[in-house]
Amino acid sequence: MNNSSEEIDQGRRGFLGAAAGVASMTLAPGVLLHTIASADPRSERVTDAVRYGMLIDTTRCAEGCTACVTACNQENGLDLQQMPASMDPEKWDRQEARWIRKIKLEDNLTGRVTNLPMMCQHCEHPPCVDVCPTGASFKRSDGIVLVDRHLCIGCRYCMMACPYKARSFIHAEVEEKLTLAPRGKGCVESCNLCVHRRDNGETSTACADACAAQGHHAIIFGDLKNPESTLSKALAAMPSRQIRENLALNTGVRYSGV
Ligand code: SF4
Ligand code: SF4
Repeated sequence: MNNSSEEIDQGRRGFLGAAAGVASMTLAPGVLLHTIASADPRSERVTDAVRYGMLIDTTRCAEGCTACVTACNQENGLDLQQMPASMDPEKWDRQEARWIRKIKLEDNLTGRVTNLPMMCQHCEHPPCVDVCPTGASFKRSDGIVLVDRHLCIGCRYCMMACPYKARSFIHAEVEEKLTLAPRGKGCVESCNLCVHRRDNGETSTACADACAAQGHHAIIFGDLKNPESTLSKALAAMPSRQIRENLALNTGVRYSGV
């Protein structure tokens, strides 16, 4: 990423984090001291010293388990979506925003079935960014691919370009949403690797936590550039691959057992 891109990236990040960066402390009843958090990850520049990614061990991903999907929905407020009263439920099923989907692969020759969660793969060379006419679709220096809701005009070029069907378009008014995951009609959205957690210094994602809580431990999140990270060690220890690796997108999400 060049310098001007980094400056834009940092500006967007500062804007998103500004509201939450103001902390309040009660000194006495009715007396509040407002301080600007100084040692806050949100006030630090996003750098390419890290690249966030995930390894999904499909041999641990259980058939029928959707804990990661549920956790993602709750974390990002997707569970607050309401089907418009006039809409056909089948149409809603096709249009409802999903940041993670559980998919089932079946080998036609052997019949072997593999279950895996599929989400934005956080490509190093993201086609969604290449085709976006407004710059709304962008990649941070730390590898996280995002959509800037202020710039998105809803043209959906990115959805057409994404080989992983990772993005959702919001067709209806969003009545309820979480502050940490602003959403709105006419914008495209997708998995952001729990970017709010990254910017608060947390070291996991909601999906990885939920999978571990179920005892499956199929999702490992971490820094691909740190050879000492749990993610890098797992990638060094077991064979893994990119989905559609023929596209040479160098995805941040890798799968083993496929
Ligand atoms: S998976 Fe799709 S949405 Fe995600 S970075 Fe790659 S092209 Fe973009
Ligand atoms: S829908 Fe939004 S993010 Fe996607 S290409 Fe169009 S402007 Fe860019």
